Amino acid sequence: SLDILEKFKDPEICKELLDCLRAELDGDIRFMEVCGTHTVAIFRSGLHSVLPDEVIHLSGPGCPVCVTHESEVNAFLDLAGKEGVIIATFGDLIKVPGDKGHCLKNAQAEGAKVEIIYSPFDSLELARKNPDKTIVFLGVGFETTAPTIAATVLMAKQEGLKNFKVLSFHKLVPPALDVLISDPETKIDGFILPGHVSTVIGVHPYDFIGEKYGKPAVVTGFDPVDILQALLHMVRASKEEHPKTINQYQRAVSESGNVKAVEVMYQVFETSDALWRGIGMIPDSGLEFREEFAEFDAKKVFDLDIGECPPLPGCKCGDVLKGKMTPEQCPLFGKACTPAKPIGPCMVSTEGSCAAYFKYKVD
Ligand code: SF4
Repeated sequence: SLDILEKFKDPEICKELLDCLRAELDGDIRFMEVCGTHTVAIFRSGLHSVLPDEVIHLSGPGCPVCVTHESEVNAFLDLAGKEGVIIATFGDLIKVPGDKGHCLKNAQAEGAKVEIIYSPFDSLELARKNPDKTIVFLGVGFETTAPTIAATVLMAKQEGLKNFKVLSFHKLVPPALDVLISDPETKIDGFILPGHVSTVIGVHPYDFIGEKYGKPAVVTGFDPVDILQALLHMVRASKEEHPKTINQYQRAVSESGNVKAVEVMYQVFETSDALWRGIGMIPDSGLEFREEFAEFDAKKVFDLDIGECPPLPGCKCGDVLKGKMTPEQCPLFGKACTPAKPIGPCMVSTEGSCAAYFKYKVD
């Protein structure tokens, strides 16, 4: 009920949890949250400023817009420039720059057809209404969005929609965590795991964090009580040799996740290597079309060559996404780069770490 949900915001419970946390800490603990919604929740609730000094917060790569690689943005721009193509995309992608600082918004101003949509199903409607054009939906997002996009593809196939394509740059969270935790420079002691992604994949895909690295990992909700409870679990689990993945967000996440959604996702896609902004190529961390669905694959249909390109000059998003630098340590933060005039994707996206730091720490 609503009353129970209110409890997850209760300041008294937060205070008690903070006291427990202080009492049980024995040294620094560096935790990374890997979801943009958590980044914003930690700042908006004020938690960032009340956490004990020993609890060090690192922002991770959990905003799908932020990890979209410069060469992937270049591919969007390449497609947007093609005759007869209409790009269908979620709004937050259009200001994300490629390696030359150019974005879809610039392309749109120069005459490219770019339609902002709210659901992938809207792109099917665009395809129906524009039979003489090719609609390319930009498939960006984690395990949370990929099943819906797979369902859209299944629907297009069933309907025989020939002018609907998807550029699949989906990314999978667990392989990125493996790369981050094994990086000795980042020194992560534990993860606050993404609630939304976990509703789809469940708890077990993260088990390697405890088994292989002996570090705690807690699937966590988005209210202050959730986050503090997760930190307390993390402090306790860090004393174990091989902690099991903890599910703090049981009101939304089941152990096995949404089996049907995962099934639909893998009916259409299979895992592939993927490029992450600031991190580079991560094996098996992306999704590409299975051969049976090749007719919907914009990469194949338009023969796109997506090679690695240099990073966006001056922007430190890569180091921010890996937890090696806080946004304020970027020389451009709050000066040349602000939400009104963003340079990198971490400032473009409202869930990006730079935007969250700017909004809640500078304002
Ligand atoms: Fe990139 Fe701007 Fe963040 Fe610096 S402040 S890392 S330039 S997005």
